[in-house]
Amino acid sequence: MNTFELDRTYIAGTYKRFPVEIVSGKGSLVTDVNGKQYIDMGSGIAVTSFGVADDIWIAAVEEQIHAVQHMSNLYYTAPCARLAQALCEKTGMAKVFFSNSGAEANECAIKAARKWAAERKGPACSTILTLENSFHGRTLTTLSATGQAHYHELFQPLTPGFASFPAGDMAKLKELCAGGTVAAVLIECVQGEGGVVALDPSFTGELAAYLKEQDILLMVDEVQTGNGRSGKMYAYMNYGLEPDVVSTAKGLAGGLPMGATLLSEKLKDVFSYGDHGSTFGGNPVAAAAALSVVGRLTDDFLAEVTRKGELIRDLLRGAPGIEAISGLGLMIGLKTARPAGSVLSACMENGVLCLTAKDKLRLLPALNIPDELIVKAAEIIKEACKA
Ligand SMILES: *Cc1c(COP(=O)(O)O)cnc(C)c1O
Repeated sequence: MNTFELDRTYIAGTYKRFPVEIVSGKGSLVTDVNGKQYIDMGSGIAVTSFGVADDIWIAAVEEQIHAVQHMSNLYYTAPCARLAQALCEKTGMAKVFFSNSGAEANECAIKAARKWAAERKGPACSTILTLENSFHGRTLTTLSATGQAHYHELFQPLTPGFASFPAGDMAKLKELCAGGTVAAVLIECVQGEGGVVALDPSFTGELAAYLKEQDILLMVDEVQTGNGRSGKMYAYMNYGLEPDVVSTAKGLAGGLPMGATLLSEKLKDVFSYGDHGSTFGGNPVAAAAALSVVGRLTDDFLAEVTRKGELIRDLLRGAPGIEAISGLGLMIGLKTARPAGSVLSACMENGVLCLTAKDKLRLLPALNIPDELIVKAAEIIKEACKA
């Protein structure tokens, strides 16, 4: 059996894969099993921050693999300690809990909020509010947090203690908070899976002020938007927010599984021994990879991310069949006249890998994608949108 047949026979049918088998790559170019080359405008859904097989990333991973690939959280290891320091220094947050995925980073955020609120305001204060059209993960609890009913249908009963409200609807928020049972509000500054929808800064400003006044936690899900993608270290920095908790994953370790939950000064001591844990969390190889990624996200580099995002927008804006462009930095949504799925297929045919999100074509290229590949990809995307 070839890979397609093996996969369909032996792997649970949760993924509707495209008929492409990628075998190798370098930077923003990947090659399939037939030798066809593609420009990668998806970077593994915002994971390979510096592209595929990046030399600096490989060196960081290789060095750590030869030293020690795993210990356990019973012992100290340097990479995760240094990474936590780097993340706190870049954000002003106080402490970090490491896990292995975005869903786990959000689970930790939810546990932190529940414990903080229970201790401060009593056990009835346990509700976490999220936004409609949000996405926070696939575990039962993060699914419960996800404000899209179609993800919930087959998996009842969900974890109790979650409710959603529409972005911008302060009246609904205040109504939900009126009983004093809301511990925290969890938002994505740019809703990724929800269709690359950036929140309105006037809403986030009002939201943050209200939550501060009510002593309700503001938690930001930076799983997709984080680690340089928005043109800032974290997307909330574009909004001038001061979150109490930040969760991140995807691009953090540039292609190895790693999640992180950042706790502000207010919550830094919320967890005590045994309150939370993870066998692989803070794994030294993943941490070494993340340290190399985070170390490269300098102000100059982030300005380049913004510039590259603008370059893509300038090349695509107003092209026939492109009706609107959304997002922030190198997180780009295109509202296309043709169905996004057929645009994606045409792009793939012509050597460009894109993503979709809801009704949008979604672009999440590596943060260091060369300008000439942006220009090439934009030509192919424009052609695919035209038809
Ligand atoms: C991808 C994503 C998640 C889930 O991350 P996993 O690593 O797949 O568990 C959570 N929140 C947001 C905003 C995401 O984009």
